Amino acid sequence: MSSPPSPQRVAVVGAGMVGLATAWFLQERGVQVTVLDRTGVAAGASWGNAGWLTPGITTPLPEPAVLRYGLRAVLSPSSPVYVPPRADLRLLRFLTGFARHSTPTKWRTAMRAYIPMNRRAFEAFDALADGGVASMTNEAKSFIAAYRTEAERSVLLDELAHIHAAGQGIEFDVLTGAEAREVEPALSDAIGAAIRLHDQRFINPGHYVHALADSVRARGASLVTGTEVVDIRDESAAVRVVTADGADERYDAVVLATGTWLGDLARRFGVRTVVQAGRGYSFSVQIEHVPAGPVYFPAQRVACTPLGDRLRVAGMMEFRSAEAPLDPRRILAIAEAARPLLRGADLDARVDEWVGARPCTPDGLPLIGATRSPRVFAAGGHGMWGITLGPLTGRLLTEQITTGRQPEELRPFDPLR
Ligand SMILES: Cc1cc2nc3c(=O)[nH]c(=O)nc-3n(C[C@H](O)[C@H](O)[C@H](O)COP(=O)(O)OP(=O)(O)OC[C@H]3O[C@@H](n4cnc5c(N)ncnc54)[C@H](O)[C@@H]3O)c2cc1C
Repeated sequence: MSSPPSPQRVAVVGAGMVGLATAWFLQERGVQVTVLDRTGVAAGASWGNAGWLTPGITTPLPEPAVLRYGLRAVLSPSSPVYVPPRADLRLLRFLTGFARHSTPTKWRTAMRAYIPMNRRAFEAFDALADGGVASMTNEAKSFIAAYRTEAERSVLLDELAHIHAAGQGIEFDVLTGAEAREVEPALSDAIGAAIRLHDQRFINPGHYVHALADSVRARGASLVTGTEVVDIRDESAAVRVVTADGADERYDAVVLATGTWLGDLARRFGVRTVVQAGRGYSFSVQIEHVPAGPVYFPAQRVACTPLGDRLRVAGMMEFRSAEAPLDPRRILAIAEAARPLLRGADLDARVDEWVGARPCTPDGLPLIGATRSPRVFAAGGHGMWGITLGPLTGRLLTEQITTGRQPEELRPFDPLR
């Protein structure tokens, strides 16, 4: 099918990191953009996540260790990975696909797809900063992965070796518990081993995505919130976007950036990969010494991020419906897992308790590019890494939409795979 001419008017459905970054880069090429969201800016996963910009450890989720771990622990409500005992058909499809991709060979192939993206991830954030997005990225002066024992630490050391063997370098130091506490006094005496990662960044994701929305608006886009898109119709010369209030509007092209709900609108355009909600939880607390960068407790799967004078604590991977209510047991499980490992954190005075759904695919790769319609594009399914890779996704997809050529980096992420 020949590509339509470069579009002048494009609708982006979804005002999360991925949709807004795509809108912003489309504007760089002079495209008139309308962003539609059924709720509001950063209403999905893009608000309460950990805000790590960590291309150094951005790796495919399906991997042999996750599978081994998952089979042991998924059924307990306090386990960091949770699958409800009664899985529906879609979840079963996801889990069997995920298990099939959790082999060393598949991991290596997927990792090789991530590496060219990881290399360029910061460059896209820097372009947004240079273009006036008024929320900065923070250099992580320290980024500590902390463990009770050296034996626990060996899992990440192995993973770093695998990342290195796949062709991606990352600088890190191996620290004792005492050395880690010297760098990060927020760590408790229970920490006996650590790894310090270099050259990573972090953001306050809610703040950042709102700043991105402000910039997109200031550059002339219309941002329509409280409007659900219920249908997309390719009419050959244009695409019709139908909203729940019965209105419809024609555009030259549409980008579906609806996170965990991507399949709802993309399936009819040949996107068959299941996008499953991998729900995570977070809250923030006061802490005596706010860390100088993210703190990660890999054995507990708890991720902490400094947000001004507070610490955000995040975790859990709950494979269930994105619409299910927040389950307070998971919040407590995260607080209890973090309690012995942090010093001076008031884990009982939690604010901003939040649940959000990572858009997970069975092969661990996002879906970025044209669908069966050359006017309808998918941008989503980044799982654990939609904040780190959101801006670059927007930049590369813009190149594809405006030139008709698929950038080399996006080849493995073809939504029709
Ligand atoms: C606990 C947790 C921690 C995380 N930590 C990190 C991290 O440190 N670093 C990182 O890179 N990633 C992290 N992630 C993953 C990251 O949050 C997601 O990958 C990313 O936010 C996905 O962005 P998105 O724009 O694709 O989707 P979303 O932010 O979910 O946005 C989708 C939007 O589409 C809208 N929408 C859906 N359907 C429709 C419709 N039909 N019509 C109109 N609007 C619609 C929704 O309202 C929503 O606003 C984390 C996730 C969680 C849960």
